Parts: sequence; C-alpha cells; structure tokens
Amino acid sequence: MDDLDLLIDLHLRNDRQGPGSDADTIRALELARIDPDTPLRVADFGCGCGAASLCLARELGDSLAAPITAIDMLPAFVERLRERAADAGLADRIDAHTGNMGAPPLEANTLDLLWSEAAIYNIGFAEGVRAWKPLLRPGGTLVVSELSWTTASRPEEIEAHWTTEYPGITTVSANMRTLEDAGYAPIGFFFIPGSSWLANYYEPLGAGHDAFLERHDHSDAARAIVENDRAEADLYRAHAQWFGYAFYIARTPAVA
Ligand code: SAM
Repeated sequence: MDDLDLLIDLHLRNDRQGPGSDADTIRALELARIDPDTPLRVADFGCGCGAASLCLARELGDSLAAPITAIDMLPAFVERLRERAADAGLADRIDAHTGNMGAPPLEANTLDLLWSEAAIYNIGFAEGVRAWKPLLRPGGTLVVSELSWTTASRPEEIEAHWTTEYPGITTVSANMRTLEDAGYAPIGFFFIPGSSWLANYYEPLGAGHDAFLERHDHSDAARAIVENDRAEADLYRAHAQWFGYAFYIARTPAVA
C-alpha cells in the first residue's frame, strides 16, 4: 500500500477529513444570508466523505433546485459520501462524483452557492477562487475555508513551519484582497474554534491510530503517518493563537 492508500484507509473512517463542524458550516451559511425562497444550485468542492455536503443538504432542504454537486478526486471518499447520504435519507439531495475541482466538470454561470471546506489549499487559494468564479451566477455566493494567519506577524517557529508546509498561507486581509482582485465582493469571515480542530478532527483521527497501525503491521509508512498526525496536533495545541481555518464568504457582483 502506498502512502495515499494508507491515508485513505485512515481518513475514510472519520466523519470529516479536515477541521470543521456542522456549527461552523451553519454559521457560514447564516453569514452568507442565502435567500431561502430562491431555488438554489449548489456545489461542494473537495467534499471528502461529505461532512459539509450532508450538513448543507439538511439545512437547505427544499431550497435546493437540484441535488448538491459534491466533487472529490478520491473515489473511496465519494463512495463513502454516497453511503452516508443514503443512510441519512439524503440521497436525493446529493449527487457525488469523482472529479478535479481544479477543472470542475460544471458549466459556467450555473451555481448559486459554491462551497469548499479545508480543500482549496490543494490547488491554491488565488488559483481556486479565480477558476471557480465563472461557475457562479451574478449574485452567487462563494464559501471557502482556508488555513490563514490570525495576525500580521507571529513567532519564528510557527512561521517557519507553515511557510515550509504550506507556502500559500497568508493573512485574512491578503485573502480578502485576493477575492476582490478576482472580482468578488467580500461579505465576511470568521475563524473556526479550537474544538473544530481538536474534538472534531485530531481526537477522532487519534482514536483510530492504534487500529490503523494494527491493520498495517506497524509498517514504517503507517508509523510515519501517525507520528506526523501527532506532531501536527501538538503544533496546533502549542500555537493555535497564530493560525487557524478561516471561512471566507464572498459574492459575485449583481444589481440589487
Ligand atoms: N471538505 C472535506 C472535509 O472538510 O471533511 C474534506 C477536506 S480534506 C482536508 C481535502 C479534500 O480535498 C480531500 O478529500 C481530497 O481528496 C480533496 N482534493 C484534493 N485535491 C483535489 C482536487 N484537485 N479535486 C478534487 N478534490 C481534491
């Protein structure tokens, strides 16, 4: 099994594949002030096993003009989302596909709401928001969460870590500027709370580590993944005041 297969085996068992919570998804939806009487066409890019898709399907319910188009590059995650949607009685509200969100298989000018949690870093924030804008109708809403600095400066240790691991990390104001430069009107942002990292992501992931190591005979590759997860969780606990996932909410311009 290569590293990607190991990562899939570890993450497939969890409700979400990145930090977040239903409460964060709902808070972003409230900030977006989506008109509940307008039939909505919605997509969730980098959906993983569908934490956000399932929450949106429940919350938007009858406002959906069509099933939510959920896209992820990993077929195993897409299949898991289909199973979860069926189990939750939401199969008719979610259309999950394997696909590349960098070149989304959707027509221009078709979406009212484009959602993406903890995934845009895979293609880059600026590249993603630029590539996705033509998909939105005028007045359509983008909601995206992205790893961001909380302040203009921070200690050297944490700066060095993230600029090596994710050189795209920047401040909220810089990301807002990127949204404006790409032609969006920013509406707001918020940082998700620590519980969305610890109770909802690192703790469930950590709870699966022993069984994961057993399944893979404590191979070097499996142990390296577990050590990396533990180091990342420790790093978050030690430096959570300096970085986090921010939700960004922005609209494409339209006549009021
Ligand atoms: N949104 C989910 C959540 O919050 O639980 C998943 C977040 S996970 C950190 C990032 C996801 O992006 C993974 O499921 C990964 O397979 C997906 N991904 C990465 N690059 C992608 C691409 N180019 N197209 C579609 N999905 C991609």
